Amino acid sequence: MRIGIIGGGLAGLVAGYSLADAYDVVIFEQEPELGGLLSSYRNERYTIERFYHHFFSGDTTLMTLLDELGLSDEIIWLSGSTGSFTDGDIHPLTTPFEILRYPYLSIIDKARLGLFTKQASHMDMVPLDAITAHDFIISKLGERIYHSFFEPLLKSKFGQNADLVSAAWLISRVAIRSDRGVAGERLGYINGGFSVLIDRLSDAAQDKGCVIRTEVPVTSVVQVSVSPDPGWEINGEFFDMVIGTVSPRILQNLGVPGIPSIPYQGAACLTLALSRDVTGGIYWLNITDPAPYGAVVSHTNFAPFEWYGEHLVYLASYFSGDPDPSLQEKMLSDFCTKFSVDPKEVHWSRIAIDRDAGPLYLTGYMNNLTNPAVPGLYLAGMFSPENYPERSIEGSVKAALRVVEGIQNRE
Ligand SMILES: Cc1cc2nc3c(=O)[nH]c(=O)nc-3n(C[C@H](O)[C@H](O)[C@H](O)COP(=O)(O)OP(=O)(O)OC[C@H]3O[C@@H](n4cnc5c(N)ncnc54)[C@H](O)[C@@H]3O)c2cc1C
Repeated sequence: MRIGIIGGGLAGLVAGYSLADAYDVVIFEQEPELGGLLSSYRNERYTIERFYHHFFSGDTTLMTLLDELGLSDEIIWLSGSTGSFTDGDIHPLTTPFEILRYPYLSIIDKARLGLFTKQASHMDMVPLDAITAHDFIISKLGERIYHSFFEPLLKSKFGQNADLVSAAWLISRVAIRSDRGVAGERLGYINGGFSVLIDRLSDAAQDKGCVIRTEVPVTSVVQVSVSPDPGWEINGEFFDMVIGTVSPRILQNLGVPGIPSIPYQGAACLTLALSRDVTGGIYWLNITDPAPYGAVVSHTNFAPFEWYGEHLVYLASYFSGDPDPSLQEKMLSDFCTKFSVDPKEVHWSRIAIDRDAGPLYLTGYMNNLTNPAVPGLYLAGMFSPENYPERSIEGSVKAALRVVEGIQNRE
């Protein structure tokens, strides 16, 4: 049995690694580097993810995989401090004391917000999927709480589409992100970065016989026979089964049948290496003031500075369609002005852009949470049910393992 996998990101690598014992598996990856959104820049001293990454204490499937790959000892738990940049100032929002001091919400607003957060996990998501987070929060908590608290969070994740995101997405996310101690949310990272996982996983897959072809984009997928003996041609080569890990837009363009249209958004992360910390020790800073990025993520206020020897900062922005061609210059110039950084203090900067960086969770999104039943076709994408309410490392591992189980148990 031959299985062709489209995409050498985390989902494709997990599927390839898990199936290679029993099947002939080929992974097609269009880029020279494996890992997709979880790939890294590499220099002589260190590696750093192209897009900021951490994982969560509930990500048990990922932790089991890390254990299987002999990487459990490399997990480190760090605290993720947060804040907001509003009216030209940094406002820390990690400890209860800092939240109490935040001047843009009254004590009563803060108490209502606390109560609402506690109620989130008991709310019924079905009706909430039909209305926007914008309308829901304003009706429940009012304009001030929406604009000072929820809108910056939504903008940092969805850019100009923030007001269109469903209430079900926002509430599900609030409900799963409650592992917050007084020092901030407990977040996981890997000693040496996620490149350690991608390298170990791809090596282990190849050791089992999985063939990984980098710099080989899939350009066509044709169904050549159907049930009971399905068959496919990927770039003209025969496979009994196909696993798609790329976006619905790419799968549709390749000619894969039965793919639903699910809107995705693009992400751009500008990584900057600086000589000093400019966010007051805060890891995740939502930008409330107008800016061509929604968050400043200071990686070295999370992972130890000593690993890198310079301060690493991401400017994160989400977009629909094609990115603004001058985005990089606009981000850099705005950042230098807002955070009083002399461009000479920037050791290096690099932008990573992915047009298919994850679904846009618009109203009605939960209707998409099913997989098409096409014989011999398996999907493990960021639009898979395992990746709701948030596409994640854990969701990609789980989606890949669900597909592996489906293949192993078919008939
Ligand atoms: C800015 C950002 C920050 C994130 N931060 C976190 C985080 O902190 N924690 C967390 O848990 N998750 C985070 N995520 C989500 C996480 O990165 C993804 O859920 C996960 O990496 C997706 O893996 P994947 O394999 O499903 O998809 P991808 O990584 O998108 O892999 C798909 C692969 O397919 C390849 N490909 C595309 N077209 C073709 C083709 N025609 N032929 C061959 N190959 C093709 C691509 O090059 C890519 O390598 C973040 C995502 C983004 C965008």
